[in-house]
Amino acid sequence: MCIMSSKNPQRANVSMNLSLIPIDLQPIAEKVDNRQRISDAEALQLYHSNDLNALGVMASTLREQKNGNVATYILNRYINYSNVCILSCQFCAFAAKKRDAHAFERSIDDIVAAVQESLAVGITEVHMVGGLHPTLKKDWYLTLLQRLHALDLNLIIKAFTAIEIRHLAQRIFKLSIADTLAVLRDAGLGALTGGGAEIFDAEVRDELCRGKESAEEWLEVHRTWHQMGGRSTCTMLYGHIETLEQRVDHLRQLRELQDETRGFTGFVPFAFEPQTTVLAHVKHASAVEQLRNLAVSRIYLDNFDHLTAYWVSMGLPLAQVSLSYGVDDLHGTIIEERIFHMAGAKTPQELTVATLEHAIREAGREPIQRDSYYRHLRRHPAVESAPPAVESELVCA
Ligand code: SF4
Repeated sequence: MCIMSSKNPQRANVSMNLSLIPIDLQPIAEKVDNRQRISDAEALQLYHSNDLNALGVMASTLREQKNGNVATYILNRYINYSNVCILSCQFCAFAAKKRDAHAFERSIDDIVAAVQESLAVGITEVHMVGGLHPTLKKDWYLTLLQRLHALDLNLIIKAFTAIEIRHLAQRIFKLSIADTLAVLRDAGLGALTGGGAEIFDAEVRDELCRGKESAEEWLEVHRTWHQMGGRSTCTMLYGHIETLEQRVDHLRQLRELQDETRGFTGFVPFAFEPQTTVLAHVKHASAVEQLRNLAVSRIYLDNFDHLTAYWVSMGLPLAQVSLSYGVDDLHGTIIEERIFHMAGAKTPQELTVATLEHAIREAGREPIQRDSYYRHLRRHPAVESAPPAVESELVCA
């Protein structure tokens, strides 16, 4: 795969039309316009604002300063190797105990065959996570990575959340976090996934996912990986029991680690999917709330280059609109998403390149395929003149 450039083109001289910003938000807008960092209190003020258009103007200015008019996507495939998990997080409809009817474990042969099939349609990344499996052995994980890596040396294996890494280190490999990551990297691990961050606040975690790692432990796994030269994404699961202050606290901790390591490639927030979880009474975040959260994230996380809209959770129409609220990336083709769909998401389980490209073009941006590190790979000539997407172009597994 030919990378278009190692450093993506950026436009530095974009300034904001301050007349579009209400008086009370103008001090923040001026900071954004001058590429100055905003404070936690200012982020909270933005979260309390109902002027979604003003947030969009500020977030779009930053997006354009960082990424010009480009919006990216990746050709990727999701793999969940097993949903068997020793924990029972409140928000999780994916996990199962071995005895449960919906428990599954995929064999290495089955996973390798699925990835091989997707390589034929051009994926550049396999994104693989599972539960905290009690009995799979060290050799199983290493063989899986080695066999996937052997399929195509250019395929990026983006795998495991921070809690899976801690589980492997402590219970399976019985090694330090750094040594576990090194062994996995040597077997083919290319990047860490950003999952499991949820909301960092200790009280929220205690209520939502008792037994899961603390914020410090999540951050420590990513810090260690970054210090080894690795890259990862990071996430925020919002719209459940957290307060706006706790969202800002979450963003602050990510911004601080990014100041330290510069190892995060992008930020991917997603709204809680309550339908089939024990928190089914929680109301799903509204479209306005999702756009506001993306815009505030874009403005606050000044040291992040990329903001991704997770269409699996938002739906493609809203993800498309979010390209005017700070987002510069529509994630990817995905192929076989399970975690959000087991929680009740009604979106498709994969999208075609033509559908993603059309959504980006219709929003006035230039679509470019990226790799796992958000580096531009290519404009897609095969779909450059693709007709507008219609319902039948959505491919459901
Ligand atoms: S969120 Fe992850 S750790 Fe928690 S129960 Fe689900 S699979 Fe297990």
